[in-house]
Amino acid sequence: MKVLVPVKRVVDHNVKIRVKSDQTGVDTDNVKMSMNPFDEIAVEEAVRLKEKGLVSEIIAVSCGAKPVQETLRTAMAIGADRSIHVDTEAELQPLAVAKLLKALVEKEEPGLVIMGKQAIDDDANQTGQMLAALLDWAQATFASEITLEDQKAQVTREIDGGLETLEINLPAIVTTDLRLNEPRYVTLPNIMRAKKKPLDTITPEELSVDVTPRLKTQKVTEPPVRQAGVIVEDVATLVEKLKNEAKVI
Ligand code: AMP
Repeated sequence: MKVLVPVKRVVDHNVKIRVKSDQTGVDTDNVKMSMNPFDEIAVEEAVRLKEKGLVSEIIAVSCGAKPVQETLRTAMAIGADRSIHVDTEAELQPLAVAKLLKALVEKEEPGLVIMGKQAIDDDANQTGQMLAALLDWAQATFASEITLEDQKAQVTREIDGGLETLEINLPAIVTTDLRLNEPRYVTLPNIMRAKKKPLDTITPEELSVDVTPRLKTQKVTEPPVRQAGVIVEDVATLVEKLKNEAKVI
């Protein structure tokens, strides 16, 4: 069975985000970019399933401008067998990505798509669900455990106050949560090996997908700066401040 793993290039999770001065978005100039952490977990899970002999081929996919090829090389260094770059300079919103992925699913016919539950840049948490709807496939989101057996997947999901285990028929979409696994370190020999793995490029036009944005971002702003706290001398002062300064009692 083939597994398709969509991976997004995002601002590295250790970087302190800066909003552009004109409030049109986040500044990505000279900022370290990496694979979306949930997608790293998705690639790792696909590799573990392949190591168990349940998966025959892992195809990583990334949509965006040329630098996403670096992210695809990282996916192949973790263990993906080959990659597809959907090459576009356009601003991609979740619906456009879901349509591109649907076109690739129809071409590649994977039995399973494992992808991140959300990309940490826009925090949309939409693409997997939209892809499942467009394909009319089963979906299990926020997976913390995946077991494959007889054309079915058992997926454990973390929900408020406990765990829920679903059984879904394949082909299906599974989106990953943080506790699914801990991705392996990428070793130098694997980085070198990944350079030789196949990376194909295709355009949205070749896939007959219109990626025109449907939503317009009005503005992006920094969260308000929190004021420093003060230590009060006694309870009476605290009550006085809560009453007269904070005006909460
Ligand atoms: P989102 O719905 O934007 O939060 O993204 C959820 C998941 O969709 C990500 O974790 C990726 O697996 C996938 N995804 C989103 N955008 C892209 C992209 N440009 N290229 C490849 N995969 C993507």
